[in-house]
Amino acid sequence: MRIQILSILKNTDIEIITSVKQVLADAKKKITIVPHENPDGDAIGSALGLGQTLKNFGHDVNVVPVNDYPDFLKWFTSDVPVVIYEQDKKLAKELIFASDVLICMDFNEAKRAGHLEKMIMKFDKTRILIDHHPYPTNFCNYTFSETSYSSTAELAFDVIQGIGLADYIDERAAEALFTGIVTDTGNFSHNTSKNTFMVVSHLLQYGINTDKIRSEVYSNFTSDRMKLLGYCLNEKMLVFPEMRTAVISLSSKELEEFNFTPGDTEGFVNYPLSIKNIVFTALFIEKDGLVKASFRSKGNFPANAFSKLHFNGGGHLNAAGGLSKLGLEETIIKFTQLLPEFKHQLLETTI
Ligand code: 5GP
Ligand code: MN
Repeated sequence: MRIQILSILKNTDIEIITSVKQVLADAKKKITIVPHENPDGDAIGSALGLGQTLKNFGHDVNVVPVNDYPDFLKWFTSDVPVVIYEQDKKLAKELIFASDVLICMDFNEAKRAGHLEKMIMKFDKTRILIDHHPYPTNFCNYTFSETSYSSTAELAFDVIQGIGLADYIDERAAEALFTGIVTDTGNFSHNTSKNTFMVVSHLLQYGINTDKIRSEVYSNFTSDRMKLLGYCLNEKMLVFPEMRTAVISLSSKELEEFNFTPGDTEGFVNYPLSIKNIVFTALFIEKDGLVKASFRSKGNFPANAFSKLHFNGGGHLNAAGGLSKLGLEETIIKFTQLLPEFKHQLLETTI
């Protein structure tokens, strides 16, 4: 299947595309793909989609996330092995250092790979970055950084085309790439562009079952997770209409009460954005003695700048994350006390 494109890789010089094409031209190379910590649908989907394509071409590919990912992302038909560092440190490390090429997917700075950061920086062969987050740092030999893309999966499709490997995409790769796009766009509700739908229309030609994929991703929850969501909305949501902001928080004790498993709180931060007039939401979750923060916004309110400034984080304009070393209560107090500083911007935000 041959399709036009390339023009859309706005930030990527043709030299980079040509060089990466050369690097990957001889099968078979040992390749490790590393997604970001706490991998989401885009991190896993783009890694498996590219990984399967490279494997079909003849490369020896492994995906090595630093930590585990939710069950609703564990149904892929891909036969690319996934070795989770936290579950098998020795093997994960061996795979990384035995590789000829390391591909970092869906993150913009090495520290987003958590405990794999040091290994990434020590790796002395070819490092490639494929990512759609703003403000990438220069830690790879070849960087595909394209912020106009909805998802790294959408970008991975264009990179695959750019380096001439589109013929090696199959149904398994298409399914993984589609999943990355679906999850990072909130089931096509934000960040989509003409190119997103062009890529999706190409992926559909591989015969993927999109109803099944959506069902795996969105209708695969435990009853505990649904009850936790109900609890959050009913008892844990604070709304500040004068700041156009809402916040939800969960302690580790509360998570335990609802038999929390990874991924259970995925998407919770988006719910308060459905309230009329709310343009900024935060979700604070206490985990391992720290507080993980998620921020979502509408319009031009910069969730990433807010997070970078006050929660040591970053991300996209409308979807960002960060961390707080304060206790949960103190974190909420800090957040609410910061809001007046942003009141003007929040009130000015148009959608
Ligand atoms: P989430 O709220 O789903 O964890 O993350 C939303 C977005 O922010 C994602 O694009 C994610 O990559 C980014 N993000 C999440 N946590 C962090 C963080 O600690 N640092 C940075 N720089 N980005 C983050
Ligand atoms: Mn992404």
